[in-house]
This record gives sequence, structure tokens and C-alpha cells, in this order.
Amino acid sequence: MTPAPDSSPSPGLDPVLIAELDRIAAVPTLLVALDFDGTLAPLVDDPDDARAHPAARAALDALAALPGTIVALVSGRSLESLARVGEAAAAQPLVGSHGLEVRFGSGDARPAVDAADADRASALRSRLEPVVVAVPGAWIEPKPAGLAVHSRRVDDPESVRALVEALHAEAAAVDADLTVRDGRDVVEFAVRDATKGDGLRALVERFAPDAVLFAGDDVTDEDALAALGPGDLGIKVGEAESVARLRVADVAAMATALERLLRSRERLTGAVR
Ligand SMILES: [Mg+2]
Repeated sequence: MTPAPDSSPSPGLDPVLIAELDRIAAVPTLLVALDFDGTLAPLVDDPDDARAHPAARAALDALAALPGTIVALVSGRSLESLARVGEAAAAQPLVGSHGLEVRFGSGDARPAVDAADADRASALRSRLEPVVVAVPGAWIEPKPAGLAVHSRRVDDPESVRALVEALHAEAAAVDADLTVRDGRDVVEFAVRDATKGDGLRALVERFAPDAVLFAGDDVTDEDALAALGPGDLGIKVGEAESVARLRVADVAAMATALERLLRSRERLTGAVR
């Protein structure tokens, strides 16, 4: 028996997006893989304070409890930091450090970096540290394969510009083979290359879903959005340019989209709360 279409409103959501959410809600195995900061959690000055929007959190927990539904987080954060702020259950699959660290949630994980790469990352950190310390408000987040320099708390845009320029120059001088990523209020240097697209592909290979939902707000999410197949659904959060066909305005609207996906999937899988 085919359940009747859900005619209940999802305020603020594009009707095309609603139709797409309802479409992927019906597949037997669904992978919901989402960026964290700026997608599930509002951006905050101190990244340790970031937490998922309560409505998004509740929807994701309920989705993860449904049959055939995998809910993963895909972030530029280190796995350790992502597990903490994402308040991830031990069984939740996580991709950290832009695809470099992958944990499948069943106790197995892909190794992050070898000893040689860890040494290169450490050498890089000691060279960039003095550049960052000289700029009030800027700070370093160590990563398994390098570091991120955060500038959200630097007041003056000109200081940010000069800092980023100095970091690029110093990093190029110390290691010619770095991967450099300029994000929103952050610049990252890594001795090994991986993208959120690589991380998403690792999850797809592992869980073999019939459809994937990926959503993200930043430049680095574009790699994952570009890795989606024709039956998948990519959502851009915010106004920035994107390969994604569909958008939501902000974290709150993303939470509404997840609530819609949950309602639809509960109905179609016969799970009624
Ligand atoms: Mg983000």
C-alpha cells in the first residue's frame, strides 16, 4: 500500500526541495551526510562552543534510529573535535579533517597520517606559529595533517588579509607540497591532500546507500556536493556560489528540511512516533 502524500506544510522550504526530500525519503537505504559548522550548528566565535540547532539535532537522532538510515557528519574539524561538538554517539560515522580521517562507527576507522606526515605537520606548525601569535585574536587549531588558522576574532579585515598573505608565503617556503584551503575566517594547511568528496565517497563505498543527502555551507563542501550522483540530493546552506541545485537560507531552514525528511521517511517506513 502506498501511503498518502504528506500535505502538511514545511514553512520556508522551496516546494522543489520538499519534493526532493520526499523522493529520497523513500529509498531503502539512505545516507544523510552533513557538514556541521554553518550547516547544522550556527557559527560561533569559539569553535568549541558550537552545537547543532536543537531541531536539527532531534531530527537527526530520530532519523538515525530509523531502519536503513545512516546519519554521518562530514567536517573540516579533526575527528576528535567533531565527535565532541557533534555530541556523536560511538556508532555514528564521522569524516574529519576534510576526508583525511574517517570513522565508520563500528569501531573501525581509516588511518589518518603516517609518522613521516606527522613530522612534516609538526615542522609546519612550528614555522607558522610565530606568524599567528603576532596577530591578536588569531589562533591555531592543530590538525592531524597540519593546522588551521582561525581569524574570526581578528577585528580588522586588513590584519586578516595581511595574516593570510604572510601564512601563504611562509607555508610555501617551508613545504612546497602543501594543500592550502581558504575558508570562511579560516585558512588551512595540510601535508596530505583529501577533500570532503573523498570522505563522502568512503562512506558511500562502505554503506552502499540507494541515495545520499549532503548539505554544506562553505567552499570545501563543494567537493562533496560535486561527488554526488544523479539520484542524490545536494543542498547549499546560504547564498554562496555552489554546484548544488537546491538551497536553504540558514541553519534554521536546514533544520526544517531535516524535520521534513524525517516525517516523510517515518511515514514511508511505517515508523510512527
Ligand atoms: Mg560548514
